Amino acid sequence: MGIELLLDMAVDGYGERVAIGSHDDGSSYVDLGALSRGAATVAAEHGATHVATVAVMGPLLPIVLFGGSYAGVPAVPLNYRLSTPALDELLATLERPLVIADADFAEALRRPGRVVLTTEEFLAEALAAEPAGPACPADDDPAVLLFTSGTTSRPKCVVLTHANLVSYVLGTVEFAGAGIDESQLVTVPPYHIAGVASALTSTYSGRRVVHLPRFSPVGWLTTVRRESVTSAMVVPTMLARIVDHLDGGLADAPSLRALAYGGARMPTPVLERALHAFPEVDFTNAYGLTETSSTIAVLGPEDHRRAIAATEPRTRARLGSAGRAVAGVEIGVRDAGGNLLAPGAVGEIVVRGPQVSGAYVGIGSVLDSDGWFATRDRGRLDEDGYLYVDGRSDDVIIRGGENIAPAEVEDALARMPGVRDCAVFGLPDDEWGERLAAAVVAEPGQAPTTDEVRSYLRARLRGSRTPDDVFIVDALPYSATGKLLRRHLVADFARPAAG
Ligand code: ATP
Repeated sequence: MGIELLLDMAVDGYGERVAIGSHDDGSSYVDLGALSRGAATVAAEHGATHVATVAVMGPLLPIVLFGGSYAGVPAVPLNYRLSTPALDELLATLERPLVIADADFAEALRRPGRVVLTTEEFLAEALAAEPAGPACPADDDPAVLLFTSGTTSRPKCVVLTHANLVSYVLGTVEFAGAGIDESQLVTVPPYHIAGVASALTSTYSGRRVVHLPRFSPVGWLTTVRRESVTSAMVVPTMLARIVDHLDGGLADAPSLRALAYGGARMPTPVLERALHAFPEVDFTNAYGLTETSSTIAVLGPEDHRRAIAATEPRTRARLGSAGRAVAGVEIGVRDAGGNLLAPGAVGEIVVRGPQVSGAYVGIGSVLDSDGWFATRDRGRLDEDGYLYVDGRSDDVIIRGGENIAPAEVEDALARMPGVRDCAVFGLPDDEWGERLAAAVVAEPGQAPTTDEVRSYLRARLRGSRTPDDVFIVDALPYSATGKLLRRHLVADFARPAAG
């Protein structure tokens, strides 16, 4: 089954209901179906082997995903924040791509022998084209090629097959929040797996999608009110900023019923504030990677309610969990020798199941002989199968032979009065190999001193967890998808300290 069948089902099931945009001027599922079939014809006419896009949010993503599928070629959503040479480099890896780009990017990307259409030109051609019949792609054909965020290394191009993506949709459907009046506010960009995943689940569940291309807390709250948004997905940094801007809790977002968050670790103090600000809203934590077609573990609304009401530490600690594996997915934790560990032990998180990609372009298989994919995330499972994600193994600081996960220190530091945001990282050190550094963003007018930060942590953590250096900064570096760019902090602070 190809992903285009999700759209076929939506056209039959939801018909003229609005799929994308406002009630008065949005595109319906029927429109989306016609445009996607037309898009497939356009792709075939240009002899495209891939449909690549460089575009900000809008209806283009689902049209390209499903249009590519009707044409039997993969869609390749590219990051419009990349430089033209970087985009050229990525496009050069595709045989005969049809490139669809917003007008600003289209001009810069035109090259002899490369077909580039602006988004408007493509949509006009798709509208005018004869609708394509089904290409019936095989389960194992690539549906989407997607570059990872490049948070810790060079972006890798992940091959997601039709089977991967359809398994993801079916495995997470119980959390998709389908309903006749459902409308979801999407702030994640289309070149990120969360954007692709949301386009697929929305189509499957018949939701109306409303896009907010440039996030601001005020813009978000205004859109929720204007569009009567019932559900939204956010990265942790967005949730922190929204909660800071609320003055009357639900009065600021009366229609909101469900909030999903993920993409990076959620600081527990931020989550606690959000749960108190939106007591009637269902919260879901979704953990996943590009390579796993997004969500593989979910901490659902009931878990959040039980944890926030609990006084018993183990249940309360669930607020820091990424939840349990979704249907069809197995999650394990392994030691450096590749042995699966018992509950409670910390190691590398591994995952297997039909939604896990088998390959990177140019690198080949990414699975071991037992079908496990190694996430490079560090974490543990508890006795009940709840997963706790500490963060990237690459971020672990080795100070004098002792392994320190930034999360251990950040969780404590985030609770210090006057601390708005914080990050912990390693800096090169002649004596210890690495020394422990913390960057702290203070609440307005409340900057704690370096000594205060150190003594606060010394009182709460083992001595080796007390940062050697504390930097008070105005803001931390985050990617557009809410990922903390720790390597930027290392680059910024390694130089002066070493000099
Ligand atoms: P690269 O692999 O190129 O460094 P990246 O790993 O940031 O990029 P993504 O696939 O976008 O690329 O991100 C997946 C990572 O995001 C996970 O491995 C994990 O570290 C983090 N993450 C995602 N969701 C959650 C969550 N709910 N809780 C904690 N961490 C999360």
